[in-house]
Amino acid sequence: MTGAAVTTANPPVRRLADWSADRLREFADEHGTPLYVVDIERVRENAARLRESFPDAAIDYAVKANARTPVLAAIAEVGFGAECASAGEVVRACEAGFADVRYTAVNPPARDLDRVVECADEHEITITVGALDTLDALAERDWSGEIYVRVNPGVGAGHHEKVRTGADPKFGIPIDRAAAAVRDADERGFAVEGLHAHAGSGILETEDLAAHRALVERMSDLADEIAAANIDLDTVSVGGGFGVPYRDTEAPLDVDTLARATREAFSADARLGIEPGRYLVADAGVLLAEVTTVKPTPETTVVGVDAGMTTLARPALYDAFHEIRSLVATVEGRETVAATVAGPVCESGDVLGRDRELPAPERGDFLAVGNAGAYGYEMASTYNSRPRPAIVALDGDGGELCVRRETIADLGRLER
Ligand SMILES: *Cc1c(COP(=O)(O)O)cnc(C)c1O
Repeated sequence: MTGAAVTTANPPVRRLADWSADRLREFADEHGTPLYVVDIERVRENAARLRESFPDAAIDYAVKANARTPVLAAIAEVGFGAECASAGEVVRACEAGFADVRYTAVNPPARDLDRVVECADEHEITITVGALDTLDALAERDWSGEIYVRVNPGVGAGHHEKVRTGADPKFGIPIDRAAAAVRDADERGFAVEGLHAHAGSGILETEDLAAHRALVERMSDLADEIAAANIDLDTVSVGGGFGVPYRDTEAPLDVDTLARATREAFSADARLGIEPGRYLVADAGVLLAEVTTVKPTPETTVVGVDAGMTTLARPALYDAFHEIRSLVATVEGRETVAATVAGPVCESGDVLGRDRELPAPERGDFLAVGNAGAYGYEMASTYNSRPRPAIVALDGDGGELCVRRETIADLGRLER
């Protein structure tokens, strides 16, 4: 890590307006659109700020937020661990250089378990178990390494019902059965290293903080109960879900306040663990799109762009809000219009933003979509036979293509 020089000039959030329009336009010109741009230095800044607020915690990056290699390598380099949601993420995290890799097994497919157990021959891998029969599945594979037990704490938090996991029966072992599950795992020869819970995604407001605090207290009580049964826990992970301000009008999360609230509520005789995903990468990324159509209608000006729900799924999937900005060099002579920015996919939900005030867009303009570094490229699909976008990674002055644009020929490569 570059240390103090970075942290002193490390604002709690990078807004869409903070990106250089000239530079973004150059990337769009050079590499075409839709194009993701991810600034690796900003990822490091976010990591440094989090580390400062949580100096002693085990920090595992939730890889699913952005699993591209330059991002993973940078986070591995600052010494965080990796929290992985699939065998694919485990393999990628190992390859990117993470020393500590944890696989969070949610209804784990057999193929995933096979592969993770295979990886564990060569790597330090911990498996988080969210159902007792996952222990059976691991035993069948002659694996009895280090595990965390995933607990369903009965508290959920998050920006949308689809990302509140804490109280959803799909995730984890109900908290009143968790101590018994830990004892069971211990008796069966697994090394129970930790407990884990994740309330959901998007802690930003005071009410979310209260839910987070409740989760931390419940997990601490559970850890005490387990310690009383003479099982030593190394770590109690209270999950991720640290929110980012998607709207310019929202204040950034105060991680110091969050850290203080967490420490106050955390009483377990174990190391605190956290698993941020979005917080590390969201504001490190933007999505660039080109205006392809401008259509005045009685209701709104429809601004068609070449990026849509297959490029950035969050607006269609979660009604998520992302700021949108015009990258035109000069707005002189352009009045402001209220625009609906819509993608090229044949679905009415394929809208990146509604009622956005933009300098009257013209065909060929570039637009930038903010906070696209988390759950952006990772959720991209090829629906409508639309190839996935390219990614440019910035580090310091240089910008390099780190993922090439998918081609139409690529789309058929699996067919036989
Ligand atoms: C998705 C996820 C996270 C990270 O969530 P963010 O909202 O990106 O911080 C952490 N832990 C688990 C188990 C997750 O599934």
